[in-house]
Amino acid sequence: MIRPICKMGNPVLRQKAKELRPEDISSDWFSQLLIDLKDSMDHYGGIGIAAPQIGVDSQVALIELAGMNRYGEELNLPLTTFVNPVIRDLSAELQGFWEGCLSVPGLRGYVERPRKIEVTYLDEKGRPQRLVAEGFLATVVQHELDHLQGILYVDRIKDSKLLSFQEEFETFIQERTIE
Ligand code: ZN
Repeated sequence: MIRPICKMGNPVLRQKAKELRPEDISSDWFSQLLIDLKDSMDHYGGIGIAAPQIGVDSQVALIELAGMNRYGEELNLPLTTFVNPVIRDLSAELQGFWEGCLSVPGLRGYVERPRKIEVTYLDEKGRPQRLVAEGFLATVVQHELDHLQGILYVDRIKDSKLLSFQEEFETFIQERTIE
């Protein structure tokens, strides 16, 4: 079911989401949450979505990058469910992309994040998994998982001059963007 997106200002986006317990992951409630997240992500045109964005205070996020080619990188991540994820930086080097967010509509901002990361998490069946991501994918993963810590990309913009309305972005800036 498509759910409304919570926008910046909604407190659900500003708290650390709750970790799921094994019994949560095997519940019907969780199966339905995954369906709602996927339906909502597809409907609103995101490449990732986190549970707090549909008002659910739980550490769950989805990312799906299918055969996408952006910024000269072939990006392929089949639909992946991250439950209770933990990120570790694998690179001290930062890279920047223009990011957007369904919860911050109409804006773009330039954010620098570690270039390479490792995520350990549980998948949709509660099995432990590990993903190493770099480049644009690393930024997408960090953006989505930040939502589970109550962090929005605007918090990570170092210079407020690097925040733009979408229309002005397209006119004056457009180069490297994520939605
Ligand atoms: Zn977002």
